[in-house]
Amino acid sequence: MKVSHLLITGALMLLSALCSNAEVRISGEGCPGGSDFEFKSVPAPANNDAATKAQFTLVDGERDPNGGDLAVLHDGQLPVEEDQPAANFFFRAGTDGGRIALDLGSVISVKMVCTYSWHVSTRTPQVYQLYAADGKSSGFTAAPKRGTDPESCGWRLVARVDTRPSNGDDGDQQGVAISDPTAGALGNYRYLLFDIVPTENRDAFGNTFYSEIDVIDANGPAPTNTKNPRDKPILIAFDADGGKYQFTIDASAAPDLKEWADTKLRPVVQEWYPQLVALLPSDGFEAPTKVTFRFRNDMADTPAAASGGRINLNSEWFRREREGEARGAVVHEMVHVVQNYDRAQRTNPDAKPTPGWLVEGIPDYIRWFLYEPETNGAEITGRNLARAKYDASYRITGNFLHWVTQKHDREIVPKLNAAARRGKYTDQLWKDWTGKELLELDEAWRKANEDRLNAMHPKVGQAKTNAGAK
Ligand SMILES: [Zn+2]
Repeated sequence: MKVSHLLITGALMLLSALCSNAEVRISGEGCPGGSDFEFKSVPAPANNDAATKAQFTLVDGERDPNGGDLAVLHDGQLPVEEDQPAANFFFRAGTDGGRIALDLGSVISVKMVCTYSWHVSTRTPQVYQLYAADGKSSGFTAAPKRGTDPESCGWRLVARVDTRPSNGDDGDQQGVAISDPTAGALGNYRYLLFDIVPTENRDAFGNTFYSEIDVIDANGPAPTNTKNPRDKPILIAFDADGGKYQFTIDASAAPDLKEWADTKLRPVVQEWYPQLVALLPSDGFEAPTKVTFRFRNDMADTPAAASGGRINLNSEWFRREREGEARGAVVHEMVHVVQNYDRAQRTNPDAKPTPGWLVEGIPDYIRWFLYEPETNGAEITGRNLARAKYDASYRITGNFLHWVTQKHDREIVPKLNAAARRGKYTDQLWKDWTGKELLELDEAWRKANEDRLNAMHPKVGQAKTNAGAK
């Protein structure tokens, strides 16, 4: 076993590196709280590293309930204040730390492991041992508790990290980078295990506030970083309708989507937002005139979501769907901004909540039948006929709204919207405006679709109808 290099930079810190068969280098650095995790020797925290999608497991020890859960360690988001418990993971006050395991999903060439922390004094430094494994050795245990030496069950000790300063000067933010510059990578691993201990036991507050853990895949994408959003935001600002409507697209969290947002999304917003406002008018109502779109990396499976005048866009989903569903999804969310049904709660003491199927059906009606009718994305087919019900929500309700618009009342959607915006939607409105009960309309719409499908593919349509009747 060779003795590894030891590099100490920035604020005075003690680090010790230990390696198994390579020259592991540990770079540790502190910086003042206002520095936004800007280090000289440690890369800025990344938001597209291999830990982003890794599965994090608390193997041993207790999470402090005042802190965030394990997700904050790989959400690509950093705390913005020095004492922001919910944005950090830390073990329960007064306990002796614990173990956290990462499953990267498959064996990758791990180029670097970085850990970031931020607090004041004793909760800033980082003291832990990092183990790694490919999981292939016999007797491998994926989640060894504290009583078990990981090296006895298929793990390899990669590094011992201890950034406690000798002179009491911690730095408010700390970054640690573990790498092997000689070999180029630390090794081929699927699993990582952090055995984390408190920085002191004099009082209950020795458990470090860990803000982020990054794992850089030697064959992965170039790291994009998360610290920029606050100090170097990537913003696309524009307006529409002679300045009446103002928009900002914040691509700070997804710089690679900036050009797409500017050239492909922006024209859709400029053309369609004023049209959506015009499509859904009501007396005394003015739709929001400022709308912000923000790419985010912490939205899990949600493609996009609107709240007030803000629309959050899931970077990963938009990256995948930029030539597919992305723009239509934004039209859907812009309809939510214009709907503004929350307003009813403030303006009408007797406001009734609008049913969710209508809240979602109107945006999908507009999206699929007015914005992109050529895609036929909301058709009733042999495959979804069994689910065709007016309140099936999203595109099925959108199809129902389209049918009622064509057959009975060209203004039904604007009228339903205006009622919902005042908290006055009831099922009775359908009868008032079309002369038919909602359930009658539902049945007639389904029948029309069944007849159409039977005429096209008699057997298929019939079989589906029977299946749906069960
Ligand atoms: Zn929606």
